[in-house]
This record gives sequence, structure tokens and C-alpha cells, in this order.
Amino acid sequence: MDRQIRDIIWLVAVLQLGLHPYCLDCWIAGRMTRRLYYHDSYVAAFEAEVVDHLDIGGQSAVVLDKTFFYPTSGGQPCDRGMINGVPVTEVSIREGDDAIIHVLAGEIHDHRVQAEIDWPRRFDHMQQHTGQHILSAACVRAAEAGTIGFHLGEESSTIDLDVESLSRPQIERVEDLANDVIFDNRRVTSSSLTPDQAASLGAGGRDGRPLRTPQNPGSTVRIVDIEGFDRCACGGTHVKRAGEIGMIKIVRLEHRGRGLRAEFRCGRRALTDYRVKNDLISNLAADLTVGYWEVGRAVDSLRDEFKSFRRQAREVGERLLEYEARDLLRGAERRDKLCIVSAVFSERDRRQLGRLAKKLIEQPGVVVLLGLADVKSHLLFARADDVRLDMRPALKSALSALGARGGGGRPAMAQGGGPAADEERIRAAIGHALKLLTNDG
Ligand SMILES: [Zn+2]
Repeated sequence: MDRQIRDIIWLVAVLQLGLHPYCLDCWIAGRMTRRLYYHDSYVAAFEAEVVDHLDIGGQSAVVLDKTFFYPTSGGQPCDRGMINGVPVTEVSIREGDDAIIHVLAGEIHDHRVQAEIDWPRRFDHMQQHTGQHILSAACVRAAEAGTIGFHLGEESSTIDLDVESLSRPQIERVEDLANDVIFDNRRVTSSSLTPDQAASLGAGGRDGRPLRTPQNPGSTVRIVDIEGFDRCACGGTHVKRAGEIGMIKIVRLEHRGRGLRAEFRCGRRALTDYRVKNDLISNLAADLTVGYWEVGRAVDSLRDEFKSFRRQAREVGERLLEYEARDLLRGAERRDKLCIVSAVFSERDRRQLGRLAKKLIEQPGVVVLLGLADVKSHLLFARADDVRLDMRPALKSALSALGARGGGGRPAMAQGGGPAADEERIRAAIGHALKLLTNDG
């Protein structure tokens, strides 16, 4: 239908039948609920009539003759609020007749109702959503990156881009361009177009600016226009002026297959993000007793210092192990040509036990039987290369004395864990193994 003829018919309908002047599209589409949020996203309180009561999974729900509540759709979460003082927990579109379902936390019996939208939540969605339009258009203009997905979450919003990566200068160009649109405070308007009009925009547009999103042929298309910057088919809620978005900032990029997911913050979310990060950096600077601009350098020097301390600690630890090994060898039991070192420890690192055993068996003729008493016991048996003994059966018998099975390794070194045991029990298990070894020997 030609737009002028349509508008004249509508004017007559408004004057003669007293219909709401906003509802031409809903009337043409034969919708059960008139979607007034299309025409004014700033109305947060309204009156309406209940046209249907429903039960959605045990929860009460109503359909109104008209609504400013935005339903979950197009990547944007629904509005929340109250209808006659009863909280609205979910708003959705019913398949088939496109009725807007308001799911409630309680029941409503009145026919005429007062509705109130949770304005801070709605305005936050308007900021993030309009910000997304600007960011997506800036990605095309500054980085030739198209948007193939959008998600507006409770805390973070993301767009999925059809490029594998963005360089830092590209990200900065995108952010600068997007924020320039905000600083210019450009007008954001919406209009419903016929398929022909939308098609002409898709082919290049009247002023040369192409329509960023593809349209569904044969349906009325709602076009959101950001003055001189972007045109996009969209059914969401938007701010009137770009300045209301405050700021757009990309906070994280994540590779997703052959694409890139950009997480961004607009408006109050950007302020909150800045506040959290500013507190973090200020506390770090105070802890490090440096200015915030010196935190990076201070952390680098702390990291270097830590690496050097770790290296020194390792060297000192190795030297201590050598002393300990010498000490143990001095107190070792001599039997024939064997030098038997047996020792039981508690609260000691198992890897350190392994290093100690390796040091001990560097000496010829040494047999090492080490135990660890803890909430989980551990045994490590080893011998020098010149000793012809298999440590595995000895380990098995000691573990079985502790009530455990398993353990593994090679003839020269075997180890395994058992249940909790005190030093005395472990010493007894080692004694058991030693008897077996010396009998075999
Ligand atoms: Zn939109």
C-alpha cells in the first residue's frame, strides 16, 4: 500500500473510530497487543485493559490490549516492572498471533490495570542497544568488520564480528568513531517502511547510506536511523539522542572459531566498569606504594624479584638436600656391601622426597627406603645402579602391610601411596620390606 494513501486511511480511522494514533502497524499486522514501545520507548507508566488471562507453567500471565513492556526478542532481554502492583517476571511474544504475554508473580483480577516499567533496567537496555547499533556501524566503517550476532546480557553485552582479529589501532579507531557519534549527540529516529521503501534503502538508500541489516521481504520493516551514520532494521528500544549513551568501550575480545566476540559496555555500565577498575588500580598502587601510572613497572620488577628469589630458594634447597643426603648416608646401616638408608618423614613434599632419593643413590651400594606419614602415606624405594635388587616386590609388601595395594615403578625405583598412617606404622612397614630385601639379597 502506498504510504500516503495508508496514512490518509489511518487519519480517518483515528478521527472516526477513536483508535490510538500509534497503532497503524499493529492494526495492519492484525496483532492482538498493540506494541506501543515501538513508538515511544520513554513511557514507563500506562493504563491498559486485560484481554486474556493465562497460566504459563503454573504462573499467572495476562495479555493486554496495548503495552509498553518490551518482550524478550532480537538479542534484548525483556522489561520488568509491575502490573497493578504485581511484579512482571517475564515478557514474551506468543507464536501464532504475536500477543505479548506478561508473566506475573501473582494474580490480577481487574479488567483495567495500571502498569509500571522498571525504568533503570529499561533505560540501561536502551543505552546498550543503541550503543550496539553505533558500535556495529563503527566496526564496519573503521575495520570492515560486520556484526553477525548480538547479545545483551544482565551484566555484559557482546557482538560477534565476522573477522578473525582486530589490531589495537583498529580497536581504537572503532571506539573513537563510535564515541564521536555520542559526542555529536546525533538524533536516533525510527520509522516503519513498506517493503518497497526498505528495498530501496537496502539497494543503497536515498542518501547513499546502505541499510546495515538484511530485511525480510514482504513485511513492514522498522528502520532505526542514527543521524548521518547508520540505518538498521530493528524492533528494539532505543534512546532519542546518542549523547544519552554516555560512552561506548570495548572491554574484551575473544576468538570464536573464525570470528571474534567483542564485549562492550555503554552508559552506566561503562561508568561502573571504570569505577571497579579504577578502585582496583588505586588499591594496587597504594599496596605497591607507587603512583597508579607506575603499577605496570612495579609489577614487572616484583615479578623479576620473585623469579630471582625462586631461583635462589631452589639452589638453597638443593644444597640442603645434599647436606641431608650426606647426613643420612653417615647414619646408614651397613650390611655386606649394601649401605641401607631408611627414613620416615611427615609433612614433606613428595617431589622433594624423590629428589632426595636420587641424590642418595648416586653413591654405589646404596638402598633407599623412604616413607612419608601424612593423611595419605607414601613410600619410595630406590637403589643405586650397581645393586642387583628389584625394589618393586619390597614396595608391594610394605604397602600391603599398610593395608594398601598398587604402587609402581622400575626395579631401581618404585613408589606408591597408602592410607593415613603415623611414623611408627610406616617404620614397621619399611622394616618388613627390608627383611624381604636382605633375605633376597
Ligand atoms: Zn536496535
